Amino acid sequence: MKEFDVVVIGGGPGGYVAAIRAAQLGLSTACVERWIGEDGNPALGGTCLNVGCIPSKALLDSSHHVSFLRDEAKQHGINSSGVTIDVHKMIKRKSGIVQTLTQGIAGLFKKNKIEWLQGSGKLTADKQIEITPLDNEKEPFRVLAKNIIIATGSVPFNIPPAPVDNELIVDSTGALNFTDVPRKLGIIGAGVIGLELGSVWSRLGSEVVIFEALDDFLPSVDRQIAASAEKILRKQGLDIKLGTRVTGTGSNNREVTVTFEENNEKEQLSFNKLIVAVGRKPNTDRLGVEESGLELDDRGYITVDDHCQTNLENVYAVGDVVRGPMLAHKASEEGVAVAERIAGKPGHMNYNTIPWVIYTWPEISWVGKTEQTLKQEGIPFRSGSFPFLASGRARALGTTEGMVKVLSDQKTDRILGVHILGPAASELISEAVVTMEFEGSAEDLARTIHAHPTLTEAVHEAALAVDDRAIHF
Ligand code: FAD
Ligand code: AMP
Repeated sequence: MKEFDVVVIGGGPGGYVAAIRAAQLGLSTACVERWIGEDGNPALGGTCLNVGCIPSKALLDSSHHVSFLRDEAKQHGINSSGVTIDVHKMIKRKSGIVQTLTQGIAGLFKKNKIEWLQGSGKLTADKQIEITPLDNEKEPFRVLAKNIIIATGSVPFNIPPAPVDNELIVDSTGALNFTDVPRKLGIIGAGVIGLELGSVWSRLGSEVVIFEALDDFLPSVDRQIAASAEKILRKQGLDIKLGTRVTGTGSNNREVTVTFEENNEKEQLSFNKLIVAVGRKPNTDRLGVEESGLELDDRGYITVDDHCQTNLENVYAVGDVVRGPMLAHKASEEGVAVAERIAGKPGHMNYNTIPWVIYTWPEISWVGKTEQTLKQEGIPFRSGSFPFLASGRARALGTTEGMVKVLSDQKTDRILGVHILGPAASELISEAVVTMEFEGSAEDLARTIHAHPTLTEAVHEAALAVDDRAIHF
């Protein structure tokens, strides 16, 4: 039987990154992955590359060009009348990007001499791994591992009132492959995925209604940023119905009717497509949880300690299948930290500096604590903010909505949180993450020279504003 230093189960951003880092450290490594790509071939990259981060951003970027041409080009003196959309080509471009990137991971595996075991991996009672090959003709086989890293990710939640039929009612995966623009599109869930997919199809021309059971919009986001974002997204045409629970659906061949409760009243609306985006759940399907004695918590996540160690010796778990935010970069960093610990190094994972991004336009990003959590925790803080309206670069771009807000400890000035709504917020947040990683202060940011004219100057000015000395506002 083949034996490896490390066998990783799952080849998403948690698993493939862990495998590459383990191989870099000289450990003999294999990765079990069962994903079948759109072209029918086995694929690495997991949810993120195949049906998550990458394809959604490809469509967000394409649809952003459409809304620019439709709504903004004129202001730049560009006549864009007669613009048409070829949805088929847009989707094909997205699929091409996915294929290039997933094949790139396969190339990285070859370069790092990582063996890709194509099939479904299961933990056995005697701590071996049984692999059921994708090719049904082949017999299951086993391998031995000194260390196992589980990175089996997550799958979309289903809710009984809206069972996914992949025709009229789809999950996030189906929503990346519509063959034309639905005239009326319903979405259940105003979380990150619901807002991103809603933005894509609304920009392409759908009338979008989003049902959200909670009364608050984006409850974990800074309240001021969330309120501004809600106003902007509504203005863009997203009809966000807060405090509205979907209780049932019914469909004929052409339309799906959604029954929902708003202010204790039952109402109905019909759509050409309905996207269910009510969150994701950890995936331990066919993983051999019972046979191996692997412990799960009451919500189905694999139980791990601060070092991603499970209850089984030398078995680790990372990414969406364990506690913490379901974000690709969180999965990857846990994967790197575990690989390094296996190799006897001090793996590092700072859960306080994980950046979050919502890729609407303007984008929303944040790191660290919000004003509301600081107040709840009784931590005295100072706040400085700067609107993009006052940024020269934002004016040149023609995107002046939003702001940067910096929160720092009242006594030490150490940065506790940074919140951004604005153009390229996904990129701007990195500066805050780096400063927080070095335990920097608002004064450190304020004394750092920022190139002019750039959007980063808004971060600089917000840091200056903490000490009431912003120059341009
Ligand atoms: P996954 O990526 O889910 O990978 C798990 C892999 O394990 C899968 O390939 C699966 O086939 C394989 N697997 C499972 N069980 C077995 C088994 N028993 N044997 C063999 N293989 C197995 N995150 C961001 O940070 N930024 C974004 O912009 C972003 N956008 C998203 C957009 C959408 C529409 C969705 C759905 C998600 C998005 N996410 C985003 C979340 C991100 O995709 C996940 O956080 C990330 O993929 C988690 O990585 P992972 O490695 O833990 O799991
Ligand atoms: P997220 O977990 O960030 O992807 O967001 C999913 C959202 O879907 C949450 O805000 C939930 O409140 C919302 N949600 C879940 N079930 C329903 C439902 N039946 N009707 C409306 N919204 C729902």
